[in-house]
Amino acid sequence: MSAVPARSTSDVPSRIAVVPVRAGALPAGGAEAVAEAGGRVVLVGEGATDAAASLAGVATEVWAWDTPGYLPAAWAGPLAAEVGDEDLVVLPASPDGRDLAPRLAAELARPLLAGAIEVRDDSVTCAVHGGAATCRHHVGGPAVVTLQPGVTGIGAHAHGDAPAVTVLDLQTADARDAQVVEVHAPDVATMDLAEAPRILGGGAGLDSPERFAQLAQVATALGASTGATRVVTDRGWVPHTRQIGTTGVVVDPQLYLAFGISGAVQHTAGLGDPDHMVTVNTDPHCPMMSMADLAVVADANEVVAELAKLLAGETGQ
Ligand SMILES: Cc1cc2nc3c(=O)[nH]c(=O)nc-3n(C[C@H](O)[C@H](O)[C@H](O)COP(=O)(O)OP(=O)(O)OC[C@H]3O[C@@H](n4cnc5c(N)ncnc54)[C@H](O)[C@@H]3O)c2cc1C
Repeated sequence: MSAVPARSTSDVPSRIAVVPVRAGALPAGGAEAVAEAGGRVVLVGEGATDAAASLAGVATEVWAWDTPGYLPAAWAGPLAAEVGDEDLVVLPASPDGRDLAPRLAAELARPLLAGAIEVRDDSVTCAVHGGAATCRHHVGGPAVVTLQPGVTGIGAHAHGDAPAVTVLDLQTADARDAQVVEVHAPDVATMDLAEAPRILGGGAGLDSPERFAQLAQVATALGASTGATRVVTDRGWVPHTRQIGTTGVVVDPQLYLAFGISGAVQHTAGLGDPDHMVTVNTDPHCPMMSMADLAVVADANEVVAELAKLLAGETGQ
């Protein structure tokens, strides 16, 4: 019998989040998935019970399954038995959430709505074609949903009472999972932009695709990822997956450096709340400059070229 009591009433569909945890830490978008599910969550993974503390002020009811490793196939069956009475099961669209969600949907024999930006009782809106369009699905029955990290902005600064935790004692199913041979640190050049702690963004003020490539070199040397405005992705200099904004990726880095970006609301709405922001622009009055901790009035192309030289040790100093 399930230890997680369903909350369904005839009028309001019940919701619960399922959030995979590694080493006691929530993934990107974990707290948002919990908030979207009304504060009810099953945490699963190594340090699941410890991770509950980081949901203070967000979660109201937590069930925690402490289990080693990352085994989405072996977890899906037991988790499905726990949450099978819930109408909507919400996972973060983090890499681990995207791995677990389809397995859970298959076990529950229900549709998966991936990359949602809004979850309502009767409809789920998803970003499609790399964020270039949105698609609203009517939800007429139980479903599994992954929620795009960053769309509600909840989580990073949550505070309040730590939620009570019910520990689940479940057995992993006999299912084949990929064997983890080694875990490498993420490559800043290719990692999911939503999870990047440092981002260098390039806009229309950059003069060529070659300059953008030079910006990417500078970013790699600084251990940062590269993002872009829609003007740049529309020009085809970088793929849509690198576009920051309302119709791109929603990010929440600690550090954001903007080169030749005006700061249109469709871009800044996807920026989260960076701890530090540096802007390089020839226009001292553009919105991006007023948002910055450090505003540099200069040609962004010259600054990028100079940084590339400095970081490559070619200044001859
Ligand atoms: C429905 C809709 C959705 C959208 N979604 C997104 C989205 O998700 N993400 C997004 O980014 N945009 C989005 N946009 C587009 C958005 O409105 C802006 O047009 C776009 O963000 C502007 O990009 P930009 O700052 O690179 O270009 P611009 O606004 O053209 O700004 C270029 C900046 O570069 C500066 N500059 C010029 N030359 C130099 C130089 N040599 N050195 C330094 N600075 C220089 C200029 O002063 C200016 O501030 C969307 C628009 C719509 C209508």
